Amino acid sequence: MELLDGKRIADQIKVEIASEVETIKRNGGTPPHLVAILVGHDGASETYVGHKEKACAQVGFKSQVLRFEDSITEVQLLEKIQKLNNNPDVDGFIVQMPLPKHIDEQKVIEAIDPKKDVDGFHPVNVGRMNIGLPAYVSATPDGIVELIRRYNIPTAGKHCVVLGRSNIVGRPIANLLSQKGYPGDCTVTICHSRTPNLKEFTTTADILIVALGKAEFVTAEMVKEGAVVIDVGITRVEAPGTKLGWKLLGDVKFNEVASKCSYITPVPGGVGPLTIVSLLKNTLKAAKKEVYG
Ligand code: NAP
Repeated sequence: MELLDGKRIADQIKVEIASEVETIKRNGGTPPHLVAILVGHDGASETYVGHKEKACAQVGFKSQVLRFEDSITEVQLLEKIQKLNNNPDVDGFIVQMPLPKHIDEQKVIEAIDPKKDVDGFHPVNVGRMNIGLPAYVSATPDGIVELIRRYNIPTAGKHCVVLGRSNIVGRPIANLLSQKGYPGDCTVTICHSRTPNLKEFTTTADILIVALGKAEFVTAEMVKEGAVVIDVGITRVEAPGTKLGWKLLGDVKFNEVASKCSYITPVPGGVGPLTIVSLLKNTLKAAKKEVYG
């Protein structure tokens, strides 16, 4: 069994991005510029945005966080988005979700210029990705693909079973791995809460991608010998006696599944570290006008 070390790969990619930024600057260009909009004071959102800012600094990007109170109206937020769409100094921007209930998240996503939508949530980017056109691919599926590529995991002709059909993980990763080329050319099955006899599907998976949000749901008897297991789930559970009083668990019962696998991601340290790197990659692409020209 080999561990898919997302942290190591993420560090490696950051070094590669930093070197590209140096080249841009040496050639008289300006570093990529990412803006994050943060509404309110949600603790998890603050943490995520903080990590994104730190990652930008590590690779030499310019970054800025625009903070607004919960009381901002939908109209006011949409105006801020228009300003960013029209600001030539900003290469890409994200609106940290979730937003307060009085703001329609889908409306906000669709207000972002697809050319600056480095989160890859705009339907134009989702649609382009789906038909294999250049697009900003959202962070988690892009991170999974990157992990598979960096470890040279064979995918052609493999049966990939995806547990979960969310718009941000299950559905896009299933689409990407079914596309022509590498990493892709898989035969893909998507399972969800209405799938009867999950085990019948999971035990036929050469590549099992799990994105349920159910701690330690996948047990050894659900996994085929030699499978590649990618665990996207992150659930915080109480852990009395530990320093923090809590720990993170994946959707896979790592201790009993790992010995059956050819490759497996740990949680934390698997898919997670690659998601921020995907945002950096998209911002670099935006600065280089690689997706839309
Ligand atoms: P989500 O939107 O809640 O979707 C969960 C999916 O799992 C749904 O499609 C649901 O089916 C399916 N499901 C739930 N219980 C099931 C069961 N017992 N049997 C079969 N299918 C079941 O979750 P998500 O946003 O995709 O996230 C999934 C997990 O990944 C969460 O733990 C999240 O925190 C984590 N995550 C991690 C990262 C990262 O950076 N590592 C990024 C994103 C998400 P239905 O559609 O039928 O309801």
